Amino acid sequence: MRATTMPQVGARNELIVLRAIRVSPEGVEQSDLMDRCGLSRQAVSQITRRLIERGLVDAQPLHTRRRGKPAMSMRVEPRAMLAAGVHLDPAHLTVTVVDMLARPIGKRTLEAPGDDPEADVDRIGAALEDIVRELDQLDGGDQWAAAALQGIGVAVPGALDAAGGKVLNPPWLPGWRDVPLLDLLRARTGLEAVLDKDTNAALTAECWPGRFPGAETVLYLYVGAGVGSSVAGDGTIHRGATVQAGEIGHLPTGLDDSRCPCGRLSCLGRHTDIERVLERARAAGVPLDAQARPAASLAQLGSRAAAGDEAAREVIAGVGRALGEAARTLVSIHDPHRVIIGGPSWEHLEEVAMPAVVAGARRAFDGSHDLAVVSSELGDDVGAIGAATLFLERRLSPALS
Ligand SMILES: [Zn+2]
Repeated sequence: MRATTMPQVGARNELIVLRAIRVSPEGVEQSDLMDRCGLSRQAVSQITRRLIERGLVDAQPLHTRRRGKPAMSMRVEPRAMLAAGVHLDPAHLTVTVVDMLARPIGKRTLEAPGDDPEADVDRIGAALEDIVRELDQLDGGDQWAAAALQGIGVAVPGALDAAGGKVLNPPWLPGWRDVPLLDLLRARTGLEAVLDKDTNAALTAECWPGRFPGAETVLYLYVGAGVGSSVAGDGTIHRGATVQAGEIGHLPTGLDDSRCPCGRLSCLGRHTDIERVLERARAAGVPLDAQARPAASLAQLGSRAAAGDEAAREVIAGVGRALGEAARTLVSIHDPHRVIIGGPSWEHLEEVAMPAVVAGARRAFDGSHDLAVVSSELGDDVGAIGAATLFLERRLSPALS
């Protein structure tokens, strides 16, 4: 086991204090920080002074009736550090910039990735330059955004080499085999970059604002062109040995006896992959624009369901039942405190599919569980926001220091 050195302990404590300040946007006092972080007054005082000197934290005196030196209320300076997020998805390419609270402050939605990764990286670089230029101009042109932008997080579907920064074999992106994406991005932008799966990015974005206790086990169900899951416990995402944890497309659902090319019966992906859902909708007579991209057709299906089209509702209800079966199995495996469901396709399915997902998740443990099952509030930008948050996490998270 590697010994932990004093500077590492110092850096870790600094990140713990910064997190405690960050998740209290209304401001937090030094005495509360001591309790929350389990550190001495002297340690908290030294650390907060350093954070203030670096411009990451702002301290304002609290107005109290007490005599003597007023207590200080500390908050992060949200714009002291910016991160870019890129979501490479078969349906779209999204570039965003977030502040230290992971709030998006600039965004571009680009045409879906093509067969030429270098050209796509060039489009990403140009979009990012455009966002930064706009932010700089909005605030008087002192190039604050260019100076504050620290790096890029990239979220991709499927197989990847996270350490080597390579996209290996993402589904539905035939031009993207063995692409050294991070090298290309660094060369194009001059910025540091990190890579992870879209499912892990989405869950990171959910965990970052501190809306629920960091010690909770959280299960995320991600519904995009395909379906995936991600699990965090104690603030750390379980990625597995090859960053492939949560590839649940071939989880058997037991809903029918159709055989998947993988050899098993009734795999989850056969009910939830966007192409299969659209096939079912067309077979059921739901009129969908044949020329539209899958994401647009799914939006159309969702609109028809919302307008009361029974066939459309039944197709989406089927997706819900399959996701419910998957949730039931995954809840039994991970015993989470809460389940969050989101991803780019979810907003079109949510209204009709959600009850079956909630019911499925609560059937785990013989129905003895009153489990919180909620939809993500981050919408279809969750991949890009999450990707940017991944970069912030690598830079600022105690768990990874
Ligand atoms: Zn299968």
